[in-house]
Amino acid sequence: MIELQNIEYGYGDHIVLKNINLVANQGSVLVLLGPSGAGKSSLVRIMNLLEQPKVGKLSIAGFDFDFSTKISTEDIRALRQKVGMVFQQYHLWPHKSVMDNLIYAPTQLNKMSKPEAIVQANKMLDRLKLSGLGDRYPLKLSGGQQQRVAIARALMMSPDVLLFDEPTAALDPEITSQVAEIINELSTTGISQVVVTHDVEFAKKIATDIVYLENGNIVEMGSSDHFNHP
Ligand code: ADP
Repeated sequence: MIELQNIEYGYGDHIVLKNINLVANQGSVLVLLGPSGAGKSSLVRIMNLLEQPKVGKLSIAGFDFDFSTKISTEDIRALRQKVGMVFQQYHLWPHKSVMDNLIYAPTQLNKMSKPEAIVQANKMLDRLKLSGLGDRYPLKLSGGQQQRVAIARALMMSPDVLLFDEPTAALDPEITSQVAEIINELSTTGISQVVVTHDVEFAKKIATDIVYLENGNIVEMGSSDHFNHP
């Protein structure tokens, strides 16, 4: 379960998020919808502590944080092992091969030996229909392939939660459908997912729950069945 309580977040005098409260059950796909500047990206970044509000509480992947007290670097590291993140611009290491992108975190963090990580990475590449691309460099791949590598890399750590910040904004509709299929397949494994998008059609394909943000406020929230916002 993911829970945010009384989150207040801003820069200087500019308030980005106002008293945000929300809960997502394990295995859900929570979509954050809303216009540009609504605070969606800030909200998802708070969920793996890329941003830290001054006030509020976050429970995620078995961790509980109270933002009124300083969060240690160790806790941030521990959290990021269980909460993966996928970005619009993929953020792969361009100077590392696909295989090295995949095995870097699990081997650096001593989660796996290098041979184990390679076996696991090859399974992940098969699962994401990237078989045989381990030796390639990210910039030689299409955008859709790079995004699938980014998802595979996040999955290498067996996260409890996967966060996506506008994962399909740079992709064409056919590739967007493939990402939707991957998210739907992952949701059957019990992993919880939070997806920021402004693409309503994409949201409809994946959401179990939708939160609609405007101007730093949640203006509508519900299961995808009952959500009729344009
Ligand atoms: P969304 O993802 O819905 O487009 P964001 O969370 O990116 O919204 O941005 C919400 C607000 O926070 C916007 O008004 C934006 O200008 C502001 N903002 C985002 N990042 C920064 C930053 N690094 N410094 C100052 N303001 C920022």
